[in-house]
Amino acid sequence: MRIPLIAGNWKLNKTRSEAEALAKAVVEASRGVTHAEVLLCPVFTSLETVARVVAGSNVKLGAQDVYWEEAGAFTGEVSAGLLKDIGCTHVIVAHSERRQFFGETNETANRKVKAVLKNGMTPILCVGETLAEREGNKVEQVVTEHMRGGLAGLSAGELAQVVIAYEPVWAIGTGKTASPAQAQEVHALIRRLLKELGGEEVAAAVRIQYGGSVKPDNVKELMGMPDIDGALVGGASLKADSFAALLKF
Ligand code: PEP
Repeated sequence: MRIPLIAGNWKLNKTRSEAEALAKAVVEASRGVTHAEVLLCPVFTSLETVARVVAGSNVKLGAQDVYWEEAGAFTGEVSAGLLKDIGCTHVIVAHSERRQFFGETNETANRKVKAVLKNGMTPILCVGETLAEREGNKVEQVVTEHMRGGLAGLSAGELAQVVIAYEPVWAIGTGKTASPAQAQEVHALIRRLLKELGGEEVAAAVRIQYGGSVKPDNVKELMGMPDIDGALVGGASLKADSFAALLKF
């Protein structure tokens, strides 16, 4: 059984005191939630604050990015070991905003995935097409490249620990959501690729989240699809009431 993972990606939002208040509200809303795992991914500067708030609760802590080297002359970067040290269990890798604005490639994504796994955390590898790619009938090609590139060289055991987030770029922060059928079609493709990469058992075990304008009013339908195992949520995770409502899918 795959337990759905509902993750809030706060992106570049929230001061430490705002992060503390929101995390407290999420911990409260998550009490008794056993049908899903709950994860919060604040800005680096709020990780320690949120770690303190979620300690002892069933809410987990994740980072939004990572660098693959452990230590050294890499000004501005944060390693997987340091994220583990602060209490992270998950790390988002290759979010489309990082691909779009910060030069993330499938090769750098792969190095990051490996660094996260090496440090005993769960990478959430983001894959998904732009609007131009969808309109050019390139969804399968792009998602396959993101998957094969990001997961290259992983053993079946390592693959089984990864989470994939399918996030069509045209649906992120735009209010446009992929229809449940559109999302399911790509999730099924991702599951087939997982089978090719790691075999039947891996494909059955790996969770595939959907991300892209997930809101309280569309989460239930999306989560009802057979290959959708959770949500990676941006905008609707920034307010306690909408994130709490999402958890009740
Ligand atoms: C995201 O940040 O990954 C995301 C899906 O954002 P939003 O929910 O705002 O579309």
